Amino acid sequence: MSDTIFKGVFLVGLIVYLFGLFGPHRRRNRGSRIMEERGTALNALLSVLAALGMQLLPLLYVLTSWPSFADYRLPVLAGAIGTLAFAAALWLTWKAHADLGRNWSETLQIKEGHALVTRGVYQHVRHPIYAAQVMWGIGQALLLHNWIAGLAGLVSFFPVYLYRVPHEEQMMRDHFGEEYRLYEQRTGRIIPRLRR
Ligand code: SAH
Repeated sequence: MSDTIFKGVFLVGLIVYLFGLFGPHRRRNRGSRIMEERGTALNALLSVLAALGMQLLPLLYVLTSWPSFADYRLPVLAGAIGTLAFAAALWLTWKAHADLGRNWSETLQIKEGHALVTRGVYQHVRHPIYAAQVMWGIGQALLLHNWIAGLAGLVSFFPVYLYRVPHEEQMMRDHFGEEYRLYEQRTGRIIPRLRR
């Protein structure tokens, strides 16, 4: 019974993410002029794999219970914590997008009039949207009690994170120079720095 509820939580979270956050941001940014594009084919491939692991595979599991041979049991408390992690991930995604505004892009890009955002959640961490993806992955593992569908999120996002973050930071350093270097010194990647 509780398993069904937590599957429902995942489904609602996915709908909110796709239709309330990702879709609208994509549409809003369609018109902006791109000055530099650093998205590579590997970057695109890894993003597709992450979408499979964080969205499609868990969706299949929620709707069909496949692959049920990999099911296991977790206490209800795990699902409750997963629900909180999911809610936190959605909030952080919304807040980071609100702070980043038109500087957001799906691939690695510098836009016309690109400004370095160091306010809002960006004053604490440089990659709040990726931090939210990690929270999503943790939530997914606690909501879907299945070795494959549950863990696919964290497993598939890991390569994206490892590949994309250094490339993105290099692009920002090349474009914003000293301003970005100073910003790096006072912030963490996805966990806030304790000492400044
Ligand atoms: N890594 C960030 C942003 C993801 S969107 C996060 O996790 O929240 C990716 C685009 O955001 C990059 O192409 C880059 O151009 C832009 N970007 C990343 N950090 C930024 C910042 N602090 N200010 C402005 N643009 C930023």
